[in-house]
Amino acid sequence: MSRPSPCPWCGEPVEPEDDVHVTAQTLDGSPVLMHAECVVRLRIGSVGHMLRRCSCYGGNMSDPPGLSRRDAARQARALYLVNRSLGCVYTLD
Ligand SMILES: [Zn+2]
Ligand SMILES: [Zn+2]
Repeated sequence: MSRPSPCPWCGEPVEPEDDVHVTAQTLDGSPVLMHAECVVRLRIGSVGHMLRRCSCYGGNMSDPPGLSRRDAARQARALYLVNRSLGCVYTLD
């Protein structure tokens, strides 16, 4: 890997010093690098979804306004980790 490729979720470069996940491979078999927080965000949904205020639950909340996709992902992951430590039911599967 000579230069960072953009994260498919947030579009920011995936740098070696970032918390990086190699996710599912693309159709041509090459691995996809994503920020760890973006992987979590992709799988658990938005902050609004975890708070059950998104359209799934009849609300209209999604990610916090004014944040970049990556910062919103960080918030979603932080919320997820807090929920998990409190024994809530959210899982990655
Ligand atoms: Zn990302
Ligand atoms: Zn939802």
